[in-house]
Amino acid sequence: MSLLLKNISYLVRSPEHVEQNVDVLVEGSRISACGKDLPAPQGAQVIEAGNCAVIPGLINAHTHLYQNFLKGISAGIELVPWCNEVLFPTVGVLREAFANHNRRPAYLWTAAAAIEMIRGGTTCSVNMDTVSHQIMPAMKDIGMRAVLAYTLANSWLPPELRGEELETRRKVLEFVSEWNEPGGLTQVFLAPSTLFLCDDNLLGWVREKAEELDLGVQIHVAEIASEVADSLQEWGLTPVQRLDRLGLLSQRLSAVHCVHLNQEDIHLLGGSGAQVVHCPKSNMKLADGIAPVVNMLQAGIPVALGNDGCASNDLLDMWEEMRTAVLLARVSRNDAGALNPADAFRMATVEAARLCRIQAGLIEPGYLADLAVVDLRGPHLRPLHSDHLLDSLVFCGKASDVRDTIINGQVVMKDRQFINFDEEEILAQADEAGEHLYARRTAFRYQDVS
Ligand SMILES: [Zn+2]
Repeated sequence: MSLLLKNISYLVRSPEHVEQNVDVLVEGSRISACGKDLPAPQGAQVIEAGNCAVIPGLINAHTHLYQNFLKGISAGIELVPWCNEVLFPTVGVLREAFANHNRRPAYLWTAAAAIEMIRGGTTCSVNMDTVSHQIMPAMKDIGMRAVLAYTLANSWLPPELRGEELETRRKVLEFVSEWNEPGGLTQVFLAPSTLFLCDDNLLGWVREKAEELDLGVQIHVAEIASEVADSLQEWGLTPVQRLDRLGLLSQRLSAVHCVHLNQEDIHLLGGSGAQVVHCPKSNMKLADGIAPVVNMLQAGIPVALGNDGCASNDLLDMWEEMRTAVLLARVSRNDAGALNPADAFRMATVEAARLCRIQAGLIEPGYLADLAVVDLRGPHLRPLHSDHLLDSLVFCGKASDVRDTIINGQVVMKDRQFINFDEEEILAQADEAGEHLYARRTAFRYQDVS
C-alpha cells in the first residue's frame, strides 16, 4: 500500500532542515522518497498537504498510561505523599479488578491515552506501566507504536502491592517473548522503577537479561532531592554512581528525570551513552526541581522528552512539553538563548527515536513512516514566517492543529477523525471505568511509605 503526501507547504525533515512545497511518498511502513512533484503510484492514497507542515511523529519517551484515570486529582502534594494518598490506593483498585479477571480498565486507559496522543501527533510512547495483557492489544487496536517498559520493584512499596519476585521475573520474560518485536509496532523494555524500589539482586538480573535479550532499560533517577540524600547515606553513592557501579550505565539505559545531579553524575552519564528523559511539566507540578538540561546537552548526553504520567502532568501533549522545556531552561538560567525550539523538537523526535531504538524521528527515505500533518491555518500560527517555522511550531503550535496522523505507514487519524474505531464509544467506556476507580479507591489505604 502506498501513500503520497502532496504539495506539503513545509516539510520538517529534521530540526535543522525544512523544505517547502514538496511531496513525500510512503510505501508499506517506510518513507520511500521526498521531493518535488512525485508521481502517485497506481492505487496510492493521496493526501493533500497544502497549508500544512509535515513533521516526524512526536515521541513521548516516558509516561505511565494507567495514570490516565488520575487526571486532575493530585491535590497539590509532593511525590512521596502523593504515592501514599493517590497512587497506591488507585493501584489497589486496579489489582482488585485484575483479581476479579476484569482486564477492561487496562484496555480503556491505554486506548483513551493513545487517542489523546495521536490527536496531538504523538506516534510512539514509552509506557512504564503496571502490566496487563490488555495494554498491547489496545495499542494495536488504536494503531499506535508502543514501547512497554515493564515495571519491576521489590522494595519500598507497601508489601501488599509487591508481586512475588520469581513469578514476576517469569512473567516479564513471557511478556518479552510475546510482545517484543523490534521491527514491528510493539517493543518491551525492562523498567526497574527506581533504585530505591529495587535491590541489587533484581538490578543485576535486569542488566543480565537486557544484554542477553537486547532490550532497552528505563528507570527513574534522582527525581527528588531526598532520593539522592538517602542514596548517599545508605550507599555512599549518588543514584547515578550506583547505576555505574551496578554496570547499568550504557546505551540501552534511559534515565528519567535526573533533576538532582552533580558534576560527576553528569560526567559519568556523558561518557556512558545512556540517555536522559526530561519531563519538565511533571517536575514543575510535583515541585521536584529543575533538571540541568543545558549542562547535560553540553556534556554530550542525549536528552529525550516525556510527559510522565497523567497524574503529574496532566496532559499527554508533547507540544506543551516542548514549549515548557524551552521556557523552563531559559528562566532557570536567566538566559534567553539557553535552549531553543529546535533543541526541544530534537528531544521529541530524533533523540526520542534513538531511545526507542527505532529508525524514526527524521523524514528520510528508509525511515519509518510515523508522521503528523499539522494544519497551519489557525489564527495562533499566523502570520507565519517561513524563516522561523520551527520557532512558530514550538512556541505557537497546539495538539489540536494536528490534522492527520500516520503511524507505520497507516493513516490512523484523517481530518481529525479516527478511521478504525469508534472514538466516542471508547471514551464513554473510559469515563465509566475511571469514575468507578475514583469512587472505589477509598477502600484501599496502605501503611504509608516515606
Ligand atoms: Zn515516571
